[in-house]
Amino acid sequence: MTLFSGKFFYPFLIPGGLIFGAALFALARPELPDAWTPLLRYIPPSLLAASLLIGWRFNRSRLIFACLLLMTASQGLLFFGTTAVGPFVTELVPLLVPLNILLISLSAEKGAFNYRGGMWLALLLGQLVAGSWLYAQRYEQSLAFLQHQFVPWPLQQQIPIGQPALLAFCLTLLTLTIRFWLRPGALEAAFFWAVAIVLAGVLDMDGHPLTLYCASANLILLIGAIETSHSMAYRDELTGLPERRALNETMAKLGRRYTVAMLDIDHFKKFNDTHGHDVGDQVLKMVASKLAKISGGGKMFRYGGEEFSVIFPRTSIDDALPHLEEIRKAVASARFIPRGKDRPKAKPNKPLPPKKRNPALNVTISIGAAERRARLSTAEQVIKAADEALYRAKNAGRNRVCA
Ligand code: GH3
Ligand code: MG
Ligand code: MG
Repeated sequence: MTLFSGKFFYPFLIPGGLIFGAALFALARPELPDAWTPLLRYIPPSLLAASLLIGWRFNRSRLIFACLLLMTASQGLLFFGTTAVGPFVTELVPLLVPLNILLISLSAEKGAFNYRGGMWLALLLGQLVAGSWLYAQRYEQSLAFLQHQFVPWPLQQQIPIGQPALLAFCLTLLTLTIRFWLRPGALEAAFFWAVAIVLAGVLDMDGHPLTLYCASANLILLIGAIETSHSMAYRDELTGLPERRALNETMAKLGRRYTVAMLDIDHFKKFNDTHGHDVGDQVLKMVASKLAKISGGGKMFRYGGEEFSVIFPRTSIDDALPHLEEIRKAVASARFIPRGKDRPKAKPNKPLPPKKRNPALNVTISIGAAERRARLSTAEQVIKAADEALYRAKNAGRNRVCA
């Protein structure tokens, strides 16, 4: 799986990258139209208010912390930028913002209105106090550090931020890219684009207020948080497959030709009864990971319990059956080894001796399929017909596909 496969590329770009591009396009002019002046005043606080509300209701503490930070930073620059502390603040803020966002993005979602919110606020205030102390007591040294040139670079003169800040931005963007690759999610991608638009803001040669860029970052994070919560509602937590709600929506959008199959694990109750519910859950996960690889354009869903459904859009039953047979065989021939209490977390380099291994479990599935026809025209009827075919597969001895 590469970074440029569709699975990563599009969720990374849309919608975060799209908003990033739109914001850059809108701000890529030396003079902003007069009509923007009221926007400048009302949009940032409205976005912040919306983010706090969504962050609170959807339990997204990272959204809350990041948006509060962006607002503090941009308002701080606006307020202090033209005062005596201006040169110091304009160097320090671009160094602290990406590092803080990185810290926030890597933290766990554990609520904002509790002790963690208090700790985070203390950290922010601590930075303000430390910044003030550096300004008052170590002004020369601090400024020298903020403007330090690690590498001599002729273009540096034209860049409004120092190399330490530039390095902090690059480090953050790189870490966020790796993070997205390891744990893709709308909010993870949003963090990347939010930092990218803030970087565009601090590099802005036309001197548009950073507030506008920070508001764009706020919008990116807000949409990312909404999208994450939305997709969570459609995805089954245990197996990672889309669940019933997604199935219903997909079925409602299908055309006149499609095939549906219902899949059910054989004697699943036995796994629970003999090995416990935890092992049952593991078997479900392992089977689901095999099922997710269904070929032939099929889309797999967890229907509920140990039952799954697969939809083949624009496919006749004759064309779908070989793919169902293939997935049935793939499950039947797989060896499922559940993690016992003493099983090491990491996969051992050498296979364990047979005595120490957990016994491999053989799992089979039964499948019933039905195609949409004139007599079976609604989604419910097709699913019912597939269910009846599944029933026949079970009665005929299980581990088979019936149509
Ligand atoms: P059959 O071959 O006829 O399908 O037999 P079966 O034992 O699979 O059939 P049945 O539908 O009676 O049993 C399904 C069991 O699946 C019942 C329930 O305890 C278990 N189950 C459903 N959802 C989960 C789950 O999320 N985790 C675990 N561990 N068990 C589940
Ligand atoms: Mg069942
Ligand atoms: Mg079953």
